[in-house]
Formats: sequence, structure tokens, C-alpha cells
Amino acid sequence: MADTNSIRVTEGNAAEPPLLTGVKSLFGNARYADFTVTCEGRKRKIHKAIVCTQNEWLAKDFEGEDDVGISILVRKVFGADIDLLQDAIKTSFNFEDCRPDVVNAMLSYMYNGDYSYDEETMREAEVEHHIQVAILAHHYSIEPLEAMACQKLQTILDCKWNDLEFVNAIESVYDKEGTYYPGELSPVKAVVVGVARKHILDLIWKYEATADFHCVAERNPGFLLDILARQTVLVSSDSGYERVRCPYHSSCSGRGTVPLLLGRSSESDRIRLRCPGGKEQSLDDWLPYIVR
Ligand SMILES: [Zn+2]
Repeated sequence: MADTNSIRVTEGNAAEPPLLTGVKSLFGNARYADFTVTCEGRKRKIHKAIVCTQNEWLAKDFEGEDDVGISILVRKVFGADIDLLQDAIKTSFNFEDCRPDVVNAMLSYMYNGDYSYDEETMREAEVEHHIQVAILAHHYSIEPLEAMACQKLQTILDCKWNDLEFVNAIESVYDKEGTYYPGELSPVKAVVVGVARKHILDLIWKYEATADFHCVAERNPGFLLDILARQTVLVSSDSGYERVRCPYHSSCSGRGTVPLLLGRSSESDRIRLRCPGGKEQSLDDWLPYIVR
């Protein structure tokens, strides 16, 4: 009976494995810590074994390029004791051009697989916080964190697209990620461009903060180009339209390829494309049949 009970406890307990609990318990815990990160004077003790094993770029920053040169020199002088010396060389790293709460969010992700926003204690607004986390994650190529920050941002902007916060978000993203590369959007840019495209007619004509939207658009031509670059995918071929091998009608397939036209059921946030035979569906659904 005792065995049965213990098995039941294990099966019924959805708690995470002890390894994970142990790792999470180390976040913000100076015990066993072997490294300090600083940002705007704020310090946090961390565990290199947890952070550096998850990201080679952070590992490089924490180990420091310059120190490698020193260690080679020291190795020549001191021989085998180098490992001890090298560990002693670099014990802290300062994050520049970044907010402490943003660094903290990244570290939280490293230990907990998630991060949260606390309105009480954080200086920047929540939208700005997620933007900065996404940009920092992009800088260090931590794709899952970048995707997580973009998802959190998307959730808020889906509700607040007609709020000044959205205008501020566009400004912030295009200010920090200024350079325009045609056809290439970082994930955080894709979020604001996607939201803008979805509500573009309302943003331009109707919404109460339209003047703010116009201002931010005028100041950020790259933003407008990104919106247009996505639109032009509909009209990129020589004839002015995408052409498809339509699988739905013999009248279409008999012509080889046919042009896609704007569907009659299109709405500003839901573009539908129509073949001459009358099939209307999204560009994504047509993609497998497009001929370029
Ligand atoms: Zn057709």
C-alpha cells in the first residue's frame, strides 16, 4: 500500500522536477553566485553556469575578449595555475544602453523560462518594457525570449492599437531599430507593422489619436515603407498582379496561370484574393499556387 501511495503522489503531482525548482530558486539568490551584472549602478549576483550555458554571446561578454589576451600572457608566466587566475580576472559585467528592469527580465527568463511586468516597481511602461526586452533578446540571439516578448507586446497592442501607447510603440521601435532593410522585419517591428496594417484605415482616418499617428508616420518613413513593402507582395509581378496555377477551376487551369485580383469580400484588416473563376481566399492560402 505504501508503494501505491507513493506512486500516486508522484503521478498526481504536477510539480516540476527538482532540478528546475533548484535552478529557479537561484534567481536573485546570491548563494553560490559567482558573477555580478550591473546596469545603471544596480547590481545582481548571478550564476555563470546557468546563464552562460544557455547563450554563447552572453558567455563571451561575461568572459571578455580583452581578458583572454591577458590570460594568454599570464599562462606563459604562471603555467598551469592559469585556470584559477582566469576565473579571478572577470567577475562582473556592465550592461550599457539598457534599463536594469530589462536586464532583469532577460535573467528571469534564463532562470524561470518567463518574465513578468510589475507596474508598481518598473520605471518604463509595459509596452516599452516588452519592446526593450525583445530588442535585448534580439541582440543576444535569444529567439525564444524575443518571441515571448513579442507575443506579450502583441497581446497588449491588439487591444490598444487606438491608444497613444501604440503610437509611442511605433516611435520607440523605429527609434531603436532605425535602419531600414527592404523586405526584412525584425520580430518586434513585425508586431507594430502588423497591428498598423490591420487597422490602417482607422488609424489614418478615424481614430481619435489620428493626428499622433500621422506625426509618428511622418517622422518615421521607414515605418511607412515597411507597411508598403508588405502590401506590394500583392502586385509584384510584371503584369501588376501575382499569378497562380489555380487548382480549383478547369477554366483557370486551362489558361496555365491566372492573375489574382482583390476579392469582393476583402475588408481593411482581412484581404482576400480572387482568381478569375471566383475562388476567394487569403494570400497565405494562395501562396502554394503562386508562380513567379
Ligand atoms: Zn480559379
